[in-house]
Amino acid sequence: MKISDIGIYHLKIPFKTSFKHATSERSETGNLLTKITLDDGSIGWGEGVPRQYVTGETLETSTLVLTNHFIPQIQNQDFHSFRDCVEFFNNQEEFTKNGVVYNSAKCSLELAALDAFGKHFNKSVSEIGDVLAIKTPKQEENKEKRYSCVFSIEDRKSKLYHKGLRLYGFRDFKFKIDSKQDYSQIDNFINSFEGKLRSRKITLRVDANGSLDRGNLKNVLEQLDKRDVFCLEQPLPKGQEEFLSQFQGDYSIMLDESICSLKDAEKAIKEGYGDIFNLRISKNGGLINTLKIAQLAKEDSVLYQLGCMVGETGILSAAGRCFASITPDILFFEGSYGTHLLKEDITIQNMTFGFKAKVLPLTGPGLSISVNEQKLNKYAEKVN
Ligand SMILES: [Mg+2]
Repeated sequence: MKISDIGIYHLKIPFKTSFKHATSERSETGNLLTKITLDDGSIGWGEGVPRQYVTGETLETSTLVLTNHFIPQIQNQDFHSFRDCVEFFNNQEEFTKNGVVYNSAKCSLELAALDAFGKHFNKSVSEIGDVLAIKTPKQEENKEKRYSCVFSIEDRKSKLYHKGLRLYGFRDFKFKIDSKQDYSQIDNFINSFEGKLRSRKITLRVDANGSLDRGNLKNVLEQLDKRDVFCLEQPLPKGQEEFLSQFQGDYSIMLDESICSLKDAEKAIKEGYGDIFNLRISKNGGLINTLKIAQLAKEDSVLYQLGCMVGETGILSAAGRCFASITPDILFFEGSYGTHLLKEDITIQNMTFGFKAKVLPLTGPGLSISVNEQKLNKYAEKVN
């Protein structure tokens, strides 16, 4: 089966409220969508979220690399099975130029192809674990997942609001912080739940998005440890990881922007910094590359969570759920925020988590989603 057409779209959906962290504030998506149509009319959709402060990509540069580097490799392929498609991407290398790793471009194309060929060959994308011989415990595949609540920076809420989130069903929370190191937001949250953090009935993580200073890092780690915070994510900018190895074993540090490529993961493991990786399917170059990084981490007893990019639509949410059903031992889950953040989502199927922040595995052909093209046309510009 061959591809008859590949379309590229820039998607800008407004957020219900803007989202701020230490390195960026956004009020709409800026996503790179790929639509693949096969000779038999099967359609697949993929999505990447290029961010300069993450992989170095912009919407424009990732579009150029998608068009000129990744698409020419696949457009004349003839896949005779879903396995052929999975193996094609398993062998496809990341593309790095001048320190920029074009992983969101790679992700957008890979998801579109897995979705289209999955639909054609009647295979769920969740089955790629079988093709790649990743052993998933059966009970893991069917287990429901509980997603985390992530607060934007300076998002001060009342005790009543925090309790409402708990009643909704959230167990795991994450706060964004910046160099001001204002703990009042965290203390306010902790006061709402008193002993529940100590007993781990509730967990709290903190993400600095690389905004902290080396000189003050030990003090910040001590302050967070005193408050029973589970881990500190990306304290320093990418490139300063070596400094973190001195805290190994004493404090729990998660790496996010530091781990974009396979090479980044190999280096972090070899040099022994960071206890947990934040894996994000767009940042890490698609489902298959992210699975490879998770495997590397697992082999070396590094823990990991499933993260997401701000403003993902139902396409990346669906990919996240496939990842979650293939990969065992994921510490925390982020994503599937859909219309909790976006004014509208573009998938016909509702990919936004509901009550108790729970989701179930997806087992339909491809990514189990289709795109409402009327809604897409409202927010997207076709660029190729
Ligand atoms: Mg992060």
